Amino acid sequence: MDNIIYMDNAATTRTHPEVLAEMIPYFSRLYGNPSSIYGFSEGSRAVMESARKKIALSLNTEPESIYFTAGGSEADNWALMETAKAYSGRGRHIITSKIEHHAIIHTCEALKKCGFEVTYVNVDENGIIKLDELVRAIRPDTILISVMFANNEIGSIQPIKEIGEIAHSRGIWFHTDAVQAYGHLPIDVKELKIDMLSASGHKLNGPKGIGFLYVSEKMNIGSFIHGGAQERGMRAGTENVPGIAGLGKAVEIAGKTMRERAAYERNLRDYMINKIMNTIPYARVNGHMTNRLPNNTNFSFQFVEGESLLIMLDMNGICASTGSACTSSSKNPSHVLTAIGLPEDIASGSLRLTISHETTKREVDIVCSRLAEIIKKLRSMSPQYEDFLLHG
Ligand SMILES: *Cc1c(COP(=O)(O)O)cnc(C)c1O
Repeated sequence: MDNIIYMDNAATTRTHPEVLAEMIPYFSRLYGNPSSIYGFSEGSRAVMESARKKIALSLNTEPESIYFTAGGSEADNWALMETAKAYSGRGRHIITSKIEHHAIIHTCEALKKCGFEVTYVNVDENGIIKLDELVRAIRPDTILISVMFANNEIGSIQPIKEIGEIAHSRGIWFHTDAVQAYGHLPIDVKELKIDMLSASGHKLNGPKGIGFLYVSEKMNIGSFIHGGAQERGMRAGTENVPGIAGLGKAVEIAGKTMRERAAYERNLRDYMINKIMNTIPYARVNGHMTNRLPNNTNFSFQFVEGESLLIMLDMNGICASTGSACTSSSKNPSHVLTAIGLPEDIASGSLRLTISHETTKREVDIVCSRLAEIIKKLRSMSPQYEDFLLHG
């Protein structure tokens, strides 16, 4: 455990020690149910409202527009399902992109079964949504556009403000899955014209199983989880008070350290990209070179299988991923790599390495040299590589 090199921060991040410390009292001393009226629960209520305020402040909005959920997936499901339901009178058409997280794509598939139509807009070779195609996809019955803030596999940051303007000028609601971006990039929901935004604690050094949905006060959607009157009747279930306390702390720390952290990560990211591209032949970088998450790198290596790479990296104590953690168990090439135009044989040799502010240059150097050795070894066993060397 001590010797591992963790390069999978897009899958999850280490809970910040101060976040953990903030959570502990709400498991032990202050375990009151926030819905109970006695004074003993006051601490639980107070920490929830304080976290809500911190989140609202970070997005330039009001605390009343923040609803806690059990993570990013629930927030995505809620935004799509309940917008569809609430505004189906206006129309039954939804627009999204081809590179969304499965929490969006699979929810869209579920909506299609309920009679909604979904258009998946293409992205360019850098993984940036094609705005002209987005505009052409709009119909009189389009009620919602949902485009992620930044992609979890290749890190590409989307033109959110432009999309917000396109949506608003036509009276269409705009949702963004900001799970990878929130806490890492500055986000102002008013400036960017965002109506709904999903985020998740464990992607910003907060706890797992807690997140939130921001819903603009202009919208009128129903609750997704039915039951008690928690979250002003919008999300039933006894609140995850320790999780909310931890999320609040994570948001506070993220806000204070964002600028410095992002600069550090960007620098190290570009160092790693250059080093790998300079030492490993037949490699390519996936995603936009500058318009990308500070911590994301994604490569394709010809003549190797991503799965074999992962296994050999793991034997060296290196945690990485071929795509998103959710797709790594399936054999199909990632829908994101397919959408940027990679043929199957190139996409199958892909590797995502996502660093954090805790990653050191020494760790990057170790990973780069191990990776070069592993790829050399795998290629030496590859009949395709042998054939390529013989015949070009
Ligand atoms: C991780 C992730 C999710 C899911 O969030 P959970 O909190 O794990 O449910 C959704 N969208 C994106 C872009 C993600 O990276």
